[in-house]
Amino acid sequence: MAEYDFDVLVIGAGPGGYVAAIRAAQLGLKVACAEGRETLGGTCLNVGCIPSKALLHASELFEEAAGGALAKLGVKLGSVELDLDAMHAQRKDAVKGLTGGIEFLFKKNKVEWLKGYAAFTGKDSVKVGDREVRAKNIVIATGSSVTPLPGVEIDQQVVVDSTGALELAKVPGHLVVIGGGVIGLELGSVWRRVGAKVTVVEFLDQILPGFDGDVRKESAKLFKKQGIEFKTGTKVTGVAVNGGKATVTVEPAKGGEAETIEADNVLVAIGRRPNTSGLNLEAAGLSLNNRGQIETDHDFATSVSGIWAIGDVIPGPMLAHKAEDEGIAVAENIAGLTGIVNHDLIPSVVYTMPEIAGVGLTEEAAKEKGEVKVGKFPMAGNSRAKTNHEPDGFVKIIADAKTDRVLGVWIITSVAGTMIAQATQAMEFGATSEDIAYTCHAHPTHSEAIKEAAMAVTGKPIHV
Ligand code: FAD
Ligand code: NAD
Repeated sequence: MAEYDFDVLVIGAGPGGYVAAIRAAQLGLKVACAEGRETLGGTCLNVGCIPSKALLHASELFEEAAGGALAKLGVKLGSVELDLDAMHAQRKDAVKGLTGGIEFLFKKNKVEWLKGYAAFTGKDSVKVGDREVRAKNIVIATGSSVTPLPGVEIDQQVVVDSTGALELAKVPGHLVVIGGGVIGLELGSVWRRVGAKVTVVEFLDQILPGFDGDVRKESAKLFKKQGIEFKTGTKVTGVAVNGGKATVTVEPAKGGEAETIEADNVLVAIGRRPNTSGLNLEAAGLSLNNRGQIETDHDFATSVSGIWAIGDVIPGPMLAHKAEDEGIAVAENIAGLTGIVNHDLIPSVVYTMPEIAGVGLTEEAAKEKGEVKVGKFPMAGNSRAKTNHEPDGFVKIIADAKTDRVLGVWIITSVAGTMIAQATQAMEFGATSEDIAYTCHAHPTHSEAIKEAAMAVTGKPIHV
């Protein structure tokens, strides 16, 4: 019997874990992945990125049809009806296809799926169901779950988290969203588009913490124009459910008079916290930091030799692409190669309409580090956005005042999520704003606004 059952055992098959397992197998290692869910793919494929985008896409098309935007383009449909069951069915279909795809990739790459939740029994051993296995390397990729709000019980009927909000069987008359972050704005947009009144209660004075100040201001303006109501600087002190309805009690964050809001559904979306309970980390000799995360070094090695960690369970933005890149890097490090993730350049995208995307530093953070030059170009000056009747938004480029090196790029427009890849790549290669300004961009594309914003850094855009 070999000393170890596996070279690598990955715990959790989300975008971090399944990618790490496949990459390690590609590198010739004997790999298993423990996953307790019935399907592979983790939060992202089962109850996160994928189902939310399926509903965002479908609800966007519904609003374009029902709201008259298509008719204005000469596409007349007669009366438009919502078939919510069909909308949910295509969401489930997308999830089934993609999670099944990971199962296929596991088989193709000979990654063994250990079905069940894993708990450490020692530094190099875990128990999954009745089976105890030993592995030379163990990668913790257990992801995250919804942060609960004290005093607010999630029943997944009236008071839901993001998972429940993806599955509402009927359009709420009034949806109150607690938290003006990414989930609140994406899922709030879904239900508003299909007919719900949506109120977002946000503790801070502005929505979208972590995003550039201009972007936060402009996006709040656009969401308000779309009909979402915001109660910023406001905290929820309790939610009472009675007869299938909710009464949400709120008061100013700084203290003051309380008021109540009646709602058909309440979505709790105040952040996520790492999944570590049940892992029996003590048996492995691992402890958590004060935010409940597992700390690693630059190589994703924990303080215990042979145990690694990646994705939402470690510090950094809780994003699928960050987890995936860490999955590749950790597998390469285990195999003796050099796996690196540049944590300074992890793009963020909010998949609303328009989309909101950013990479690198905000203007506020860049100014704290030194003198900057900022170029901003409005989408109203971009021929493709204008032709498509999408005048809202802008591209903003922040560059170092002395070296001209690009420090941050922020975009609001329909295809911002796709456009941000160009900015990220340019920054990865150390581009200056001048490099971008002198790069030929195809016409007519939204991406020309990136070139113009780069030209605006030196005060010379053409189309404004
Ligand atoms: P996870 O995807 O959470 O996977 C961890 C897996 O580990 C889970 O399947 C869990 O069952 C399993 N597990 C946990 N404990 C054990 C154990 N002891 N044994 C075995 N298995 C275990 N990010 C984006 O980048 N883009 C988006 O558009 C986006 N949309 C989102 C929408 C929603 C509604 C939500 C909730 C999240 C979204 N995210 C998005 C965030 C994204 O889903 C996460 O950042 C990503 O899934 C993290 O990957 P991970 O591999 O670290 O963990
Ligand atoms: P978030 O951190 O994006 O937003 C939470 C919001 O809730 C913040 O604005 C915060 O100030 C507010 N808040 C906190 N406590 C509050 C309280 N008591 N009352 C009112 N407001 C309160 O978290 P989220 O929206 O729950 O998303 C969780 C994670 O999932 C994020 O880290 C995000 O990166 C990831 N995610 C990403 C995407 C995407 O990439 N498009 C989509 C969905 C989720």
